[in-house]
Amino acid sequence: MSAFKEMVPPLLDWYGRNARSLPWRDRPEPYRVWVSEIMLQQTRVEAVKPYFARFMEELPGVAALAAAPEQQLMKLWEGLGYYSRARNLQKAAQVLVEQYGGELPADYEELLRLPGIGPYTAGAVASIAFQIPAPAVDGNVLRVVMRLTASRDNISEPAVKRAVEEQVREVIPRDRPGDFNQAMMELGATVCGPGGEPRCLVCPLAALCEGNRLGIARELPVKAKKKARRIEEKTVFLLVYNGELAIRRREDSGLLAGLWELPSAEGRLSPEGAGEVLQDWGIRPLALKPLPAAKHIFTHVEWHMTGYWVKLKEKPDGFTWAGRNELLEVYALPSAFRAYLDAFTG
Ligand code: SF4
Repeated sequence: MSAFKEMVPPLLDWYGRNARSLPWRDRPEPYRVWVSEIMLQQTRVEAVKPYFARFMEELPGVAALAAAPEQQLMKLWEGLGYYSRARNLQKAAQVLVEQYGGELPADYEELLRLPGIGPYTAGAVASIAFQIPAPAVDGNVLRVVMRLTASRDNISEPAVKRAVEEQVREVIPRDRPGDFNQAMMELGATVCGPGGEPRCLVCPLAALCEGNRLGIARELPVKAKKKARRIEEKTVFLLVYNGELAIRRREDSGLLAGLWELPSAEGRLSPEGAGEVLQDWGIRPLALKPLPAAKHIFTHVEWHMTGYWVKLKEKPDGFTWAGRNELLEVYALPSAFRAYLDAFTG
């Protein structure tokens, strides 16, 4: 038996004793597993829990998700970021209603065809919800495998990920594929973690781990350097008229496509520069007050922002107006604007 295969029994045994109780894990129905996996793609488990609970309450199944108004969906996703995930979730739900009788298919390849579902998510749903022995290799699993096998391959390369999927496919136990995949992820999340020291002393696989034996686990996995993020400077305007705030919709493509936003202009503008922009927009402010600088980090871009509170004596055209409660309950504004929105909603 290869060392890699030998790790299956102790891993499953450890998982049986240490698996965290999670809402989607305790009731692994296909819809719940799918939604949780999409939410977890860029977000920590603890942060996902309340979102998941609200989502299941308001949209408890595929049909409800397929029919949900966009506003409701965006509101449920507000704060999770990466909104295309929510849109794809809904697109996939609509395909499921039209072509699969409203059920997720119990088939890896068919799952892979749905919008927003890549090899990892297809493998996770197939194995956890349907007990299909498909690999589900995310960053956690890649890290664990690279350390276990003391491999210095660059995990940013797709070929390396595919090779790991094949390695996992060969050893995944037919009777407990979902538990195996979750055990690998769980080990990566709680014991063989990213950054800092892996906790080899408490690891159930320590005796089988090449990275541990050679003392190089900490150096793994090898990753290509990321490109530096692009920095965009912006000036955000809180245009306030009679207790209402001006918002507008972003364009249908690009970053935060189609979402509501606070009006903004390029560059970090001085009060004079801000006044000129407002003039271009046909706005004559009663008062203009600078707000503190704020920063928001996306995957490839950083927004460095400054802001102005602008009191208006009349409502200019071209904006949608929302009061405090509507901003909190109806419109989904991305968290990038949170610092400025808080200045209005308190
Ligand atoms: Fe990771 Fe250490 Fe366990 Fe190897 S022994 S899998 S490096 S925690």
